[in-house]
Amino acid sequence: DFYARASRLRGADTRFLIGLDEHGQKMQEAAKREGKSPQQFVDEKAAAFRALYGLLQVSHDDFIRTSERRHHAFAKEIYGRVLARGDIYKGFYEGDYCVSCEKAYTKSELVAGKCPVHESPTTVIKEDSYFFRLGKYRDAVRGHIESHPEFIRPAERRNEILSRLSEEVLDLSISRSTFSWGIPLPNDPKHVLYVWFDALSNYISALKQPEDLYERFWPADCHVIGKDIIWFHTVIWPAMLLSAGYPLPRQVYAHGFILDKDGRKMSKHLGNVVDPLEVVKDYSVDVLRFYFLRTFSSGLDGKFSMEDLEERYQSELGNDLGNLVMRIAKLVSSRLGGTVRTPGHPQELDAHETVREFFGHVDSREHHRAVESLWTYVRKTNAYLNDRQPWKLPDGPDLERVLATSVEAMRVIAHLAFPMMPA
Ligand code: ZN
Repeated sequence: DFYARASRLRGADTRFLIGLDEHGQKMQEAAKREGKSPQQFVDEKAAAFRALYGLLQVSHDDFIRTSERRHHAFAKEIYGRVLARGDIYKGFYEGDYCVSCEKAYTKSELVAGKCPVHESPTTVIKEDSYFFRLGKYRDAVRGHIESHPEFIRPAERRNEILSRLSEEVLDLSISRSTFSWGIPLPNDPKHVLYVWFDALSNYISALKQPEDLYERFWPADCHVIGKDIIWFHTVIWPAMLLSAGYPLPRQVYAHGFILDKDGRKMSKHLGNVVDPLEVVKDYSVDVLRFYFLRTFSSGLDGKFSMEDLEERYQSELGNDLGNLVMRIAKLVSSRLGGTVRTPGHPQELDAHETVREFFGHVDSREHHRAVESLWTYVRKTNAYLNDRQPWKLPDGPDLERVLATSVEAMRVIAHLAFPMMPA
C-alpha cells in the first residue's frame, strides 16, 4: 500500500491489486473440519480480510478472489494456451506434499522427513497428474533474471533463485484428481488445476474483467510477495507466461517475515502472537504503519516489539514530528492570525534533494530508506526552527518569512508522509 500510494502521489497511472487464493486441498480440508462448504468457508475468510484491509487503510483498486468466475475464465484460458503450445502432458505423480504449503518436496528438501517450513509430516501423493514442462523454460527464465537485475528484489533473493536455477529443474505437477475444490481442467474435468498454477494467473485475470485493463496495466510494475513464495513468482509464473505468450512482470519484490522480539516466528503454539487490531486500537493505524515501514528493512525479516514501537512512537512521532507541527501551528496561529501571506526562503529548507531521494528509494523498493530521507528532513526543519528561534523575533517580515518557510516544509513533509500515514 505504501508503494501504491507513493506511485499515485507522483501522479503515475496506478492500479493496486490485492486478493486471495482460495482453492486447494488445504482449504477443502479446513472447511470440512468446520463443517462448512469450501465456498462458505472462503466467503467468511474473505470478509475478515476485507475488514482488516479496511482498518489498515489499504487503498487497493481491486480485490480478486480466485473462486470468482472472472478468475476461472482466465485461468482456463492460460491453461489452454500452455496446452496448445505442447507444454502440458499427462503422467503419474508420486512424492511428498505439504498440504499447508500446497507444495511438493523432494526427499532432500525435507528436514527429518518433515516439511522444512511447517515442521509437520508431509502427505505422500500417488496419482495421475498433468505436468507442465517447467524444465524446458529453465534457461529462458535464468537468462531473463540475469539480464534484468531489477527483476528480483532484494538482491539476496535473486542470488538464491539463480543458484537454484543452476541445478536441474523438474517438470511441475499441475493437476490433482483426489479432491474437487479447484478449477476443473477444460480437457479433463476429473482433474482440478494445481492451486499455484491457478492462483498466479490472478494478476492478469483481474485486468480482463469486469473492465478490460490489460493493455493499460500489463506488464505489472511489481508483484509484492512474501519471501516464502518467491520460487512460484520468479520461476513458475514467468515460465507459464513465456509458454502462453505473455510479457513478464517487470519486478517481483519479496518482503521478509515479522518475527517476535527474540527473533522467533510468531505462533499460537509459542504464545507470542501480536494482534494488529489491538495495536491499531491502542495507538492508531498510522503508528502501526509507521513502525513497520520505518524499522523493518526492506526485504529482510524484522523483529516486532511493543517496547520498540512505544519508544519510536514517543521519540520520532511525538518529539520529532508532533512537536514540530505543534510549534509551527501555534506560532502561525498566535503571531500571524493563522494565515501565511508572504513567501518564505525556499533555499533555507530546500526539499528538492529530499524528494528526489525519497522517490529514488521508493523505486528501488527500500521503504525504510525513503522514510529515513523524510525523517532527515523533519529533523532539519526542527534544527532550522531552533536556529532561527521565531518565537523570539518581533512582528515583521523576518518572522513572517521564517514561519512561511516552516509551513512550506510542513507541506512537503505531509505529502511525503502520506503514503505511510494516510489517516
Ligand atoms: Zn509446509
